[in-house]
Amino acid sequence: MRVLVISDIHANLEALEACLKAAPPYDSVANLGDIVGYGASPNEVTEKSRQLGTLFVRGNHDKACTGVSGLEQFNPIAGLAALWTKEQLTAENLQWLKDLPEGPIELPATVGDEKAPDQAVFCVHGSPLDEDEYIISLRDALEVLMQSGIRLTFFGHTHVQGAFALDPENGGQALRPAYATPDKLELVEMPLGAQTKYLINPGSVGQPRDGDWRAAFCVYDSEKQVVTYYRVPYDLKGAQKRITDAELPERLATRLADGR
Ligand code: ZN
Repeated sequence: MRVLVISDIHANLEALEACLKAAPPYDSVANLGDIVGYGASPNEVTEKSRQLGTLFVRGNHDKACTGVSGLEQFNPIAGLAALWTKEQLTAENLQWLKDLPEGPIELPATVGDEKAPDQAVFCVHGSPLDEDEYIISLRDALEVLMQSGIRLTFFGHTHVQGAFALDPENGGQALRPAYATPDKLELVEMPLGAQTKYLINPGSVGQPRDGDWRAAFCVYDSEKQVVTYYRVPYDLKGAQKRITDAELPERLATRLADGR
């Protein structure tokens, strides 16, 4: 089974379309939340996400943009974008986003995929312990990995692509994919160790914050036990123009170019 893992699309249609074009054939999709918020195409991105289907978990922006949670934790720019998004969403898309489930959610095995019990894969937005928590440092990750009996968890929320691993021999490690260029379509494969526990972040489709402007996602191959990270150039100017045309805060457009 090959799973397309996407997260933090943030209403960036241009980035989502580029990722779907670059993705290899896949059997299912895991969408780790923050489908909307910040970007200027909330309805288009929600509809595309609904079409892609399979597994979803809700993100903090999905909650804030639909009134499931308040805006207290948001900075003024994120708050403005959330209010704008709520106004734009059709009643149907708003309700669908409102109904997104809280993680962790287990990735279902597809037919013909013989999954051992210790091969369970879970999906969360922030952390398996708290959906709104950020796993930023190796220390944050180890706290989760040492408590967790789950071998493989996909998470988002930080908008930083890469993995944290814990294994009996090497202890804890932060693993970031190393790319050769700043602006071409690239992929990096990460083979998974059988005895290693992982927290893996596909990166953000629509608002990367790891210093790389390219849209990010990953693909999990359960038979080969490989995660492949992708970075995909997209129509940055188009996404920025939509944000400016919508009169959303200018910073939401400029930060896309910096990947911050
Ligand atoms: Zn996010």
